[in-house]
Amino acid sequence: MTQSHDSHTSRESADVVVLGAGPAGLVLGVLLHTAGIDCVVLERASRTHVQTRARAGFLAPNTVRILERHGLADGLHSSGRRHGTCEFRTEDGRFRLDYGALGNGGHHHVYPQQNLVTDLLTHYLAIGGRIRFHTEAVVVRDADGTQPYVTTREPDGRPARWTARYVAGCDGRHGAARRSLPPGAVRHHQHDHGVTWLGLLAEAPPSLDAVGYAIHARGFAGHMARTQDVTRYYLQWQRGTPADSWSEQRIWDELDARMRAEDHGPLRRGGLLERAVFDLTCDVVEPLRHGSLFLAGDAASLLAPAAAKGANLAVLEAEILAEALTGALVRGDTTGLDTYSDRCLAHIWRAQEFTGWMTRLLHATSDTSDRDDHGAGSFFLAALQRSRLNSLRTSRIHQDWFAENYVGV
Ligand SMILES: Cc1cc2nc3c(=O)[nH]c(=O)nc-3n(C[C@H](O)[C@H](O)[C@H](O)COP(=O)(O)OP(=O)(O)OC[C@H]3O[C@@H](n4cnc5c(N)ncnc54)[C@H](O)[C@@H]3O)c2cc1C
Repeated sequence: MTQSHDSHTSRESADVVVLGAGPAGLVLGVLLHTAGIDCVVLERASRTHVQTRARAGFLAPNTVRILERHGLADGLHSSGRRHGTCEFRTEDGRFRLDYGALGNGGHHHVYPQQNLVTDLLTHYLAIGGRIRFHTEAVVVRDADGTQPYVTTREPDGRPARWTARYVAGCDGRHGAARRSLPPGAVRHHQHDHGVTWLGLLAEAPPSLDAVGYAIHARGFAGHMARTQDVTRYYLQWQRGTPADSWSEQRIWDELDARMRAEDHGPLRRGGLLERAVFDLTCDVVEPLRHGSLFLAGDAASLLAPAAAKGANLAVLEAEILAEALTGALVRGDTTGLDTYSDRCLAHIWRAQEFTGWMTRLLHATSDTSDRDDHGAGSFFLAALQRSRLNSLRTSRIHQDWFAENYVGV
């Protein structure tokens, strides 16, 4: 590590500069630092912000194994909960899948992403890891040259330059890593599922002991436990409508209607802590490398949240990238770096495929559908959706396939 100053730009260095302190960047930082590699994590936001940003909550068995392998699973074992049931509510009634007893018998751990990020950060700092908050990466330069570097805006607003042997872009979809890829260096595959959700975080205990997926003529509604006091809900939403255009009362009434509370029991209401509208779009960058710049997590691929894969892929890719960088920097073996992109893309495309399938299971709309007078989508797509749900309700083979993919990455 070196540090120097001239009048305008401070200059610093690390063997690996990691952009972003989300699940991908922090797992990578912990693993690299533990392997004795000189690395630094640069994070645009404050420590409080990254530790309180509520997003994912369902950790897959493979994610838990990775965290256990590196001594990072104490928090999720002490306060996370094993979870293995989902419930589908349709006009034909409801059915439950105990996916933890199907397929490979895998369960989720329900553990809010902000708790995981807090655990990772606490561990990283405890082992002496370097991190800079309020430090925004502006651009990665010379990634295909011999001396890559990242220009940053430091907490005091001054520019700085971080030279590195490798840069890990873990700074999400809108981060500097993606922006720095020169035109033509990679392909950017994008897809719009044609669906928009209003994501809600309610200060209310879960209303059922399962993930709830309600399929309704007025659109999808979802229920996902987070903690004993906070529950995530989703409402399929008219694209372009602002998040604050409905009152809390109207939102709860609509959730009640779509979740068929009259038939299956009331929802436990509470104040809405957070509302966000997001389109269910997805993308994949291919390859996940440009010279010495590597992408991981949402920077590599964005997934619609319908199948809860994003944070799980982020952790998996971080472990693969950590092994590859350690091989290169400690043993001079670059095989892992050369195969990093292909290895991750195999997982990414499988997760994208299942996410697309889940999206079609939960919604009868798509960007290409002919909408008609039957509510949320065309009759044809609604009939396909009913048939898909019926197969899932009745076919054990289909249920095993669902369970394996639902908990897998
Ligand atoms: C509502 C919602 C629910 C979700 N539910 C699930 C779920 O149940 N299961 C699941 O697996 N996934 C879920 N996801 C997806 C999951 O949250 C993401 O896939 C995950 O956060 C990706 O981790 P990451 O480390 O790649 O990126 P992030 O968590 O986005 O972290 C990127 C970090 O980079 C920082 N950054 C950005 N730009 C810069 C810059 N220029 N310089 C420096 N730092 C920068 C950001 O501040 C951020 O801290 C959900 C997402 C949403 C929105």
